Amino acid sequence: MRIELPSTMRAMVLEKPTHPLVLKTLPLPVPSSQQVLIKVIACGICRTDLHIIDGELTQPKLPLIPGHEIVGIVVKKGDEVTRLKEGDLVGVPWLAYTCGECKYCKRNQENLCERALFTGYTIDGGYAEYTVAYQQYCFLLSSSYANPSGSPLLCAGLIGYRSYSMIDTHAENIGIYGFGAAAHILIQIAIYQGKKIFAFTREGDIKAQRFALKLRAYWAGDSTQAPPEKLDAAIIFAPVGKLVPKALHDIDKGGIVVCGGIHMSNIPSFPYELLWGERIVRSVANLTRKDAEALLQIAPKVPVKTEIQIFYLHQANEALNSLRAGTVHGAAVLQISDMQAKHF
Ligand SMILES: [Zn+2]
Ligand SMILES: [Zn+2]
Repeated sequence: MRIELPSTMRAMVLEKPTHPLVLKTLPLPVPSSQQVLIKVIACGICRTDLHIIDGELTQPKLPLIPGHEIVGIVVKKGDEVTRLKEGDLVGVPWLAYTCGECKYCKRNQENLCERALFTGYTIDGGYAEYTVAYQQYCFLLSSSYANPSGSPLLCAGLIGYRSYSMIDTHAENIGIYGFGAAAHILIQIAIYQGKKIFAFTREGDIKAQRFALKLRAYWAGDSTQAPPEKLDAAIIFAPVGKLVPKALHDIDKGGIVVCGGIHMSNIPSFPYELLWGERIVRSVANLTRKDAEALLQIAPKVPVKTEIQIFYLHQANEALNSLRAGTVHGAAVLQISDMQAKHF
C-alpha cells in the first residue's frame, strides 16, 4: 500500500547559530537520483547537534534542519536507487555521502573522505517529518528498532562501536569515560563479548554511576578516581581534554586511549612517561559503512536496549537545553511519527 504524500512538512530549522530552532512548514524535499525520501519515525539528539547549533562547528548549511540519528521508512526512491525499496525500515547516520574516488575512499578510509557530506550539518537532517538521504548511507534496521529506541544506535551507537573496534580484541579491562548515550549502548555489546567495564562519570554523578552498575559495569566511580585494576584500554566520550592524561595514567603499557568525540577541550600537557610503554592516543572520526553494518548486525542479537527520553518535534529546543544542562537520562530522541514498518 502506497501512502499519499503531502506537499509540505513540518521541520525544526536552524536559521542562525546560537539562536533557538524555529518550527517551520516547508515543501517536501525531492530525492535526487541516488537518494530516497524517508518518512521520519524518530531522530535522536546528539551532542554534535549542540556543537552545530552553538556555532562551535562552523560550516553548517544554513538554514539547516539538524539531526543525524534518523529512523524512518523509505516512501519514495530516486531513479537510480537499487539498494532499497519503498517500505524499507532504514537508519541514517552522520556520514551522508562519500565520493568513492579520493585517496581516503580508495584506501578504505571513507570516514575521512575529502568530499564527504554530513547529515544535519552540510545537508538537511532528521528534525523533520520527512528527509532525503543517499542510498549508500541508508542502513536496513531490524524491525525491533522501528521506533524511537532505534535512533541512538545511528550515532551514539556507531561512534561508540567504532571507538570500541579500535581496541585490540584481547583487551579485557576497558574504561569508559563519560557515561551517556554512547556508553550505555557500548557497555551492552562489550559485556555481551565478555569484557569488564570500568565506568567513569563526572565527579559525584551517583545517578550515572548507578546506571552503569545497573548495566553490569564491573566498577563505576568519579573520573578523578583510580580504577581498582589496570585497564587495557580506555574510551573517552566526555568532551573533556584533561581526561586524556588521566586515562593514560589508568591504562597498562601497550594500551590505547580512544577519543570518541568530535569535539574536545584542550588536552593539557603531560609527562612523556604517561605515553611511554607503547601507549597510544587516537581519535575516531565519523564512521564507515562497515562499522554501521557490523553494529546493526550485533545490536539485535545482544539485544541492545536503549534508554531514551522522548520529546516531540516542536520540543526540540527544550530537548537540546536538557542535553546542554546534562539532565537527560540516556539519550534524547524526537518522536516524529508512530508509523511502523508493518503498515506498508
Ligand atoms: Zn552524533
Ligand atoms: Zn572520498
